[in-house]
Amino acid sequence: MITKKNLIFLGAPGAGKGTLAQILCEKEKLAHISTGDILRAEIAKGSELGKKAKHYVTTGGLVPDEIVAEMVASRLTQPDCKPGFALDGFPRTIPQAELLDKALAKIAKKIDAVVYFHAGEELLISRLTARLTCKKCGSNFNRIYSPPAKEGVCDRCGGELYQRPDDSLETAKNRLKLYNEQTAPLIPYYRSKGMLSQLDASMSKDKSYPALLALLK
Ligand SMILES: [Zn+2]
Repeated sequence: MITKKNLIFLGAPGAGKGTLAQILCEKEKLAHISTGDILRAEIAKGSELGKKAKHYVTTGGLVPDEIVAEMVASRLTQPDCKPGFALDGFPRTIPQAELLDKALAKIAKKIDAVVYFHAGEELLISRLTARLTCKKCGSNFNRIYSPPAKEGVCDRCGGELYQRPDDSLETAKNRLKLYNEQTAPLIPYYRSKGMLSQLDASMSKDKSYPALLALLK
């Protein structure tokens, strides 16, 4: 049984937080929240926030942090978030975290834990360049971390797996650089608030999932 259920998942690309968030949310009936999904849903609904966001998306710009934070907070008031939620990939920067704090205060929600997926850079790079994506359903696998049951075949839909061109070594290094500059400062930010729980993300998911559950007790 886990008692901490309002969660932020924090970690470098390749740390496996998306994979574990997906497993946790399915098993514990929590809402898996990614900002990409929210943006698409709000724009499709044509809500006030959606209209504002659409303007930025269609002109190729970044949606301002204020709008994203408001969208996330609004999403967290929906019924499926009542049992709990895992924010995956947001906040990405300290300004976003500060805006999220304010937005959460307005809707009287509190984060129970920030799970920090810790792994060394070499491992992250080897994982990022070993990613496999399903041509049919878009599910991600990893030759090292979470290989499919049958080589080259998607566990979920039976589709063919391939390596995306943006999973090259150079892209991996750039993604980690961006993470170190923009997102890593959130580690001391949340640690100083006493909210950080560190997970050893170098383990395979079979071992890291029980470790995650133990952190959330
Ligand atoms: Zn598939």
